[in-house]
Amino acid sequence: MDTTDPQPGRGPRIIPRSEHILSRANVSRSALKVLYRLKNSGHDAYLVGGGVRDLLLGMHPKDFDIATDARPEQVRELFGNCRLIGRRFRLAHVRFGREIIEVATFRGRGNGGDQREHSDRGRILRDNVYGTIDEDVWRRDFTVNALYYNIADFSVVDYASGLEDIRCRTLRMIGDPDTRYREDPVRMLRVLRFAAKLGFDIAPETAGPIAGLREHVGDVPPARLFEEVLKLFQTGHAVRSFDLLVEYGLLGQLFPDTNALLEGAEGDAVRRFIELGLGGTDRRIAADKPTTPAFLFAILLWPTVSRSAAKLKASGASDYEAMAQASVRLAAEQQHRTALPKRFGVPMREIFGLQRRFANRRGARAARLLEHRQFRAAYDFLLLRSRCGEVDTELADWWTDVQTLSPDEREKAFSGNKRRRGKRRRRGRRGGARKRLSADAPGS
Ligand code: ATP
Ligand code: MG
Repeated sequence: MDTTDPQPGRGPRIIPRSEHILSRANVSRSALKVLYRLKNSGHDAYLVGGGVRDLLLGMHPKDFDIATDARPEQVRELFGNCRLIGRRFRLAHVRFGREIIEVATFRGRGNGGDQREHSDRGRILRDNVYGTIDEDVWRRDFTVNALYYNIADFSVVDYASGLEDIRCRTLRMIGDPDTRYREDPVRMLRVLRFAAKLGFDIAPETAGPIAGLREHVGDVPPARLFEEVLKLFQTGHAVRSFDLLVEYGLLGQLFPDTNALLEGAEGDAVRRFIELGLGGTDRRIAADKPTTPAFLFAILLWPTVSRSAAKLKASGASDYEAMAQASVRLAAEQQHRTALPKRFGVPMREIFGLQRRFANRRGARAARLLEHRQFRAAYDFLLLRSRCGEVDTELADWWTDVQTLSPDEREKAFSGNKRRRGKRRRRGRRGGARKRLSADAPGS
């Protein structure tokens, strides 16, 4: 069968508890609380989406989504710790400490026709018509995301042959893929993300329309694309996500300049740099270490920013000006694609700005680099550049070693042949130095 049946009314396959491996022991206590409270208040309540999919695959879900016949307002009445969010798609968020359980009311189609609000290009702008579970299933994206775990009897309910696709490890769009991508172009990114995360194949008819529809990703609000970029690159499978984005021609929708470089003469070097950087991000996540969007965007944008800075320098700008201008310009352009919030954009630009300061190892200003709030990130970035041959390993090693020295030894390391260079530079730089400090390195 090419596409799954988008018509409501087809009966589901119900798999009783004795015939599947999904156990409550692996569902978070918060999610269970929500499910039971909904059920005890007379509502239908199901675990759905990634939680069911991942548990059936023996993986640990990163979050739990719940579907119910209770209206968002009814959900809010049941839980004190609940907020209603989303205009396009109204949802209840029930909070337990740091964990948020997402509760969605079943979506329907209205009286016969499709009453959802669409844009000219078919994008769904609003979907808040409520319905029943056998309508809700057809608005979900992939068959493996449309399995429902019923808290009333612990069965798994399968309308769209999702279990078969889990078995054959295939991502298959529910309904007509072309229409479904137009309705929500983010689904093109989602299918690649799940392929990267799960190692699943994409069914040919689900993969087919992507090449012709990729421009539609540009219609998606940049803030939503930013969220999607984090899910692609900060959940442990960044290298695979990147490779799939390149393979399916979607990278250019998110990072147009980076993509243009990849297609040019320096493509191999750029790809190597980004893959090494993203490989580091994947390893950090595997080791449970924190990652930040500032560093992630620094990896993805450095090839562009460093090259445009080099061009500006060639036309007469100082090192500092060239980098500052190039990164401000790039950050502004990127806002139209994947809006990077300021709290990450500023540190990203600091990581860029600090790179040139590593070249100077002498004097108080060099020593102060160690105290900069972005030192650690900027140093990690220096290591990445040295691994790619952009920076002498000797320089990177020096900054590695200097961090291990005692305060006395450090002072010696930074004083070096200070007298000779200090005299010359101090004289020439007085006026300009203050400007530099405030512009590229707040806090230094
Ligand atoms: P994960 O949480 O592991 O990223 P997920 O499948 O749970 O994956 P969510 O974004 O949490 O993804 O969404 C939960 C469920 O809601 C999905 O499994 C899918 O059924 C449905 N869904 C989410 N986004 C869309 C979309 N853009 N189009 C259609 N259905 C969607
Ligand atoms: Mg989820």
